[in-house]
Amino acid sequence: MPMWSFQTDPEFQAKLDWMAEFVRTKVEPLDYRFPGHGAVYDVANAESRAAIRPLQDEVRAQGLWACHLGPHLGGPGYGQVKLGLMNEILGRSYWAPTVFGTAAPDTGNAEILAMFGTDQQKARFLQPLMDGDIVSCFSMTEPQAGADPKEFVCKATRDGDEWVIEGEKWFSSNARFAAFLIVMAVTDPDAAPHERMSMFIVPTDTPGIEFVRHVKVMGDDHAGDGGIHAYLRYNRVRVPLDAMLGGSGEGFKVAQARLGGGRVHHAMRTVGKCQRALDMMLERAVSRRTQGKLLADHQFVQGMIADSAIELAQFRLLVLHTAWTIDEIEAGRLPHGASRTGIAMCKVQMAKVYHDIVQRAIQLHGSLGVTLELPLAEWWGGVMSLALADGPTEVHNVQVAKALLRNAVPAKGLFPSEHIPTRMEHAA
Ligand SMILES: Cc1cc2nc3c(=O)[nH]c(=O)nc-3n(C[C@H](O)[C@H](O)[C@H](O)COP(=O)(O)OP(=O)(O)OC[C@H]3O[C@@H](n4cnc5c(N)ncnc54)[C@H](O)[C@@H]3O)c2cc1C
Repeated sequence: MPMWSFQTDPEFQAKLDWMAEFVRTKVEPLDYRFPGHGAVYDVANAESRAAIRPLQDEVRAQGLWACHLGPHLGGPGYGQVKLGLMNEILGRSYWAPTVFGTAAPDTGNAEILAMFGTDQQKARFLQPLMDGDIVSCFSMTEPQAGADPKEFVCKATRDGDEWVIEGEKWFSSNARFAAFLIVMAVTDPDAAPHERMSMFIVPTDTPGIEFVRHVKVMGDDHAGDGGIHAYLRYNRVRVPLDAMLGGSGEGFKVAQARLGGGRVHHAMRTVGKCQRALDMMLERAVSRRTQGKLLADHQFVQGMIADSAIELAQFRLLVLHTAWTIDEIEAGRLPHGASRTGIAMCKVQMAKVYHDIVQRAIQLHGSLGVTLELPLAEWWGGVMSLALADGPTEVHNVQVAKALLRNAVPAKGLFPSEHIPTRMEHAA
């Protein structure tokens, strides 16, 4: 058996083939029937829900529902490499993750409910989430602080047999559609920085939750209040003691458990989105003529296509290798934390590769590329979000560098260990 294998077993390849055809013919049309960033999360929209239910049943019948969760967490558990291959297909369509029960942030929220939830919490919140009946929100970032949770001030104080949550949260995506929010709040301000906070499950209809406004991002419609990223104020919101998810002071630990997986899943879907942009470039190159020949016959265009394909191939290998390390950790063959650097690399690279490929795809489509008649302009609007959501690029870059520097050894002498005269001296 070769040490490195890039083959997919035929049985799973058949599932991937089924998925690719199903997403292309039955799911992608939903992107045009029910457009808009919020549409996939709007469980109150009877028409879109009626349209997706039979599709979700087909996915379940194929054993492909909620594949992000392993068997010990209640899912079929194909592992991260196979999930990576699946997410490449799902990343091509806005609706596909919802149809397959793997839409963020519900995936990460389901993971932490499965990992840290009590039986009661699982029955009340995880089960309907897994069934696709509700959606959820992860409410962590604050208006004055995002990248550094140590700056958070939203607090929860104990009052008899209740916790009282007070403070503001920023960019709580999908809160307007969510049945519950998972809120990170300071419970012990005097504790060590990573033990100051705890996580709470807060039903969205709890008195005191105020939507200051629904924030929009690039690409959202300017009219109406259609933004899906909530600016929330928690006005002495009271929850029972058993609303805490995980132990007191374990907020960081719970957040970390969801963020790593979430980042790599985004990267997997981004591979699919980039592939779709590359497919568009290829079609355009062999369809459009200028200066008496096809775009495909111009070297600049060939360069854009080659650069895109090479960057995508490199990124895809990084993502799949990182997925493999996560599977190896699960199997006990690699130590806990062995995937951390890979995940940070994926996070950095996904924003860059997506930026470069979508930019070239727009350029090759000329004026049509910047119109709203192609999906490219909307994808371009999402480029910067990829470099910010789940932590800005810089933070992950620093993490990669620090991991490498931790094992770096200073030169023994005055000159670097690769100093040629010194090496010649020793070689003599
Ligand atoms: C589309 C989208 C969806 C989101 N959804 C959610 C959600 O559902 N729930 C939630 O809680 N949050 C969500 N967020 C918020 C996201 O997690 C934060 O935007 C992110 O953590 C960065 O925080 P910030 O925006 O406050 O930026 P800041 O912390 O203000 O950072 C601003 C900039 O400062 C620089 N910087 C910051 N830290 C460092 C550092 N250590 N070293 C060097 N430079 C640094 C970087 O250039 C960074 O971009 C979402 C964001 C986006 C864009």
